Amino acid sequence: MTVSKVLIVGAGIGGVAAAAALAQRGIDVEVVEKHPSATIPGVGINQPGNSLRALDALGVLDKVLSVGFAFDGNDYRTHDDHRIVHVPSSLGVEGVPPNCGLTRRDLHNILLEAATSAGAQISYGVDVQDLDDNGDGVSVTFGGGDTRRYDLVVAFDGVRSSVGRRALGLDLVPTYTGSVVWRKQLERPTEIMRTMLWQGDRVKGGVIPLSETHMYMLLVTLEETDERPAEEDLAPLLAERLDGFTGPLDDIRQSLADDPTGIVYSPLVEMNVPLPWHKGRVIVLGDAVHAAVPHLTQGAAMAIEDAVVLADEITRDRDIEESLKAVEELRHPRTELVFHASHGILAQEQGITTETMPYAVAGMRDHLAEQTAHLESILNQPFRATQLH
Ligand SMILES: Cc1cc2nc3c(=O)[nH]c(=O)nc-3n(C[C@H](O)[C@H](O)[C@H](O)COP(=O)(O)OP(=O)(O)OC[C@H]3O[C@@H](n4cnc5c(N)ncnc54)[C@H](O)[C@@H]3O)c2cc1C
Repeated sequence: MTVSKVLIVGAGIGGVAAAAALAQRGIDVEVVEKHPSATIPGVGINQPGNSLRALDALGVLDKVLSVGFAFDGNDYRTHDDHRIVHVPSSLGVEGVPPNCGLTRRDLHNILLEAATSAGAQISYGVDVQDLDDNGDGVSVTFGGGDTRRYDLVVAFDGVRSSVGRRALGLDLVPTYTGSVVWRKQLERPTEIMRTMLWQGDRVKGGVIPLSETHMYMLLVTLEETDERPAEEDLAPLLAERLDGFTGPLDDIRQSLADDPTGIVYSPLVEMNVPLPWHKGRVIVLGDAVHAAVPHLTQGAAMAIEDAVVLADEITRDRDIEESLKAVEELRHPRTELVFHASHGILAQEQGITTETMPYAVAGMRDHLAEQTAHLESILNQPFRATQLH
């Protein structure tokens, strides 16, 4: 094997998934995370069928399904709770459902357990200060002054990747889209069995089931800047923005007075870095090079697929340069598709006003199921070279 010792920078979903994938192949894996502990930002996450297949490759699908909530598609409704259309999801294969919502903490813990039980070492509160790639290996200097040598460095260090900046020489700064997502975890009423989305005038609300007991609500709003409001203002501002919705979102609005805590405010940013994503023995993957807005719930899915493909390709008996190019060739078409499709959905939604709503509703009713099925038929195709032959 040309690669036997790997450093992964970043213990987010992508980094930990890659640690599991590589350690399971017998590679000596170290992960460094700059946060002092395993803090998990966000609320819940949907894992679409293609991601569940990647999680299956890591041996954790059963655990994910046992804690999460599998569901079959999305219901679209108007802000005043009239049905527009049910869009079934065609993702997944035998034994793999189309979607599974779960808490981010559960997904993270399952991946961490897979990584550490395969032998990966994870250190928190450690940053990378310098990288020196001499062609045969990369010497990495850490915050404390330690220097260690690796056959390969894999950066899953998220948007504003500093390893990406050092290795690729690119300033990897994401673009603010003008939209923000407000999220909050809540108890799940039994009738919420799948993703439900309510479209209003330049605002979209929704709920996604996470477990037998919980779900999360989301609200996508247009906000002039990406500045975060003060903590104590989040609940009143969210209640204001939920005004005008009827049905479950109105129940949620009313409940904010009793429980204003736990609101997660995320400005939506995006970034799509052209190839190459590697230089010498350093490769940058995950959100650091392809951060899509979450409208297809495919961001972490792409990072987990990256992780599985990376492990497949770098364990082949060939030159490392060829292996890293193969990773890029397999990953780039899929991440491009997700980036542009997600961007397009957000951009279209940002333009839906009271005046244009009847056309938007008719368009969804007549075409959304077909458009979704087409996109999903591509995402459901094999993503690993081993499945293609
Ligand atoms: C509102 C919202 C909802 C979403 N919903 C979904 C969904 O339902 N389904 C889905 O699949 N995806 C979803 N996503 C996308 C998903 O969250 C991301 O795509 C995914 O978290 C990317 O993982 P990553 O490991 O590449 O990066 P990150 O999760 O950002 O992890 C990067 C890690 O690297 C660490 N780091 C950074 N720099 C350094 C350094 N120099 N040294 C050491 N460590 C470093 C950071 O602290 C961080 O822990 C959503 C995103 C948003 C914003």
